[in-house]
Amino acid sequence: MTGVQVVPVEPVALQRLAPLLTPERVERLEAHVAEARRLLATRSVWNVNSTARGGGVAEMLHTLVAYAAGTGVDVRWLVVGGESDFFAVTKRLHNRLHGVPGDAGALDAAARATYDATLARQRDQVLELVRPGDLVLLHDPQTAGLAQPLRDRGALVAWRCHVGLDEHDEWTREAWGFLRPLVEPAHACIFSRESFAPDWVDRRWLRVIPPSLDPFSPKNTDLDDREVARLVHREGLVVEGAPLPVDGKVVLQVSRWDRLKDMAGVLEAFADHLDELPSDTHLVLAGPEASGVADDPEAAEVLAECRERWRSLPAAARERSHLLSVPMDDLEANARTVNALQRWSTVVVQKSLAEGFGLTVTEPMWKARPVVASAVGGIRDQVEDGVSGVLLRDPRDGAGLARALSSLLGDAGRREAMGRAAHLRVRDHYLADRHLIQYVELFAQLLGEA
Ligand code: UDP
Repeated sequence: MTGVQVVPVEPVALQRLAPLLTPERVERLEAHVAEARRLLATRSVWNVNSTARGGGVAEMLHTLVAYAAGTGVDVRWLVVGGESDFFAVTKRLHNRLHGVPGDAGALDAAARATYDATLARQRDQVLELVRPGDLVLLHDPQTAGLAQPLRDRGALVAWRCHVGLDEHDEWTREAWGFLRPLVEPAHACIFSRESFAPDWVDRRWLRVIPPSLDPFSPKNTDLDDREVARLVHREGLVVEGAPLPVDGKVVLQVSRWDRLKDMAGVLEAFADHLDELPSDTHLVLAGPEASGVADDPEAAEVLAECRERWRSLPAAARERSHLLSVPMDDLEANARTVNALQRWSTVVVQKSLAEGFGLTVTEPMWKARPVVASAVGGIRDQVEDGVSGVLLRDPRDGAGLARALSSLLGDAGRREAMGRAAHLRVRDHYLADRHLIQYVELFAQLLGEA
């Protein structure tokens, strides 16, 4: 699919958040909203990414753009399209920024030509919409190539990178070599952690802004037990395994079908250490239906690998593990199903091998679920080990994962205390007020400079 699309977003009043915040936080937010209205009275703010559905960036834009629009500022969301050759290059960049090759392809002149040609076809459409003096947030490698033309147009451009690795290696260096000339024209760069930024990023214009979640979105809103049961046990979700159990304990991982999320590793750890877990424990691995995320070309392959792995497990492990494919045609239904699965679980796992920031960690934390997650990237900031969750020091350590699960599954008191701390951690650090305030501060600095 090529061509720029405008994603329609219904404004939502920011006051909706107020009951969750202290009076001081409400006051601070109101002051920044007033500042935003003043700064942006004659300007628009544009977000540009490459998918309106699936993955953390789309998840966040749906709610942040809605809240920002609810304050009366003019904020818009554009999605650039591409053919499979473009997304093969950008997925390669995504993988290499996380320290793995992804595929055997190169990030050479041919890859650059593919990348440039796709954005060149859409550049004029974007430039027609954006006016001089507007602010533009370009998200991830897929849109970095728009920084120069937008700057030439007179816009103020921030490139926001949602991925990264704490320690740079040959793969990250190769990806950053590709991206550097595309990113350098941006006025500012935003990362989820400072360590993700390559050393050539101008530190004066580097901002660290972690993601946030919306407690009132279909993904996170309260659901009663009957609704949870109805959504979890609805027909057609399970693609491998028996229907989901009605009783017992459930360990869940929800992720896109991306090798770096290591769904297969979770399955293997579960099967290898089945006897160490309480005998009523089931594993549920849930991801979006494989064709559902436009900019993720590897999903079908990764799901197929997981299904293959599942089929090769001993019968005892197959009886207690279930692979789910959650339909993506209705985004709200998808979100409510994920919400229900997270609420229904006893423990939520995120065994990522690399992670910029995992919304799939923050979402169950908000729901007061205890999480066991790899100590990689942004997850290290999200979870305080032993307090608001358990961090797995080595993400490849299946035995370690099983030990952490076994200990939590056997201790309801600890699960409850950890869930409570997790909820507070999200309330204090990962709601939209903090996120929007950081944007307003950056806009003020960019406009001051201009
Ligand atoms: N997600 C979803 N349906 C699925 C699988 C994932 O809605 O079947 C959502 C998940 O709830 C989260 C987002 O996709 O909101 C994933 O964001 P995260 O930051 O964890 O990782 P990313 O996919 O951006 O790498």
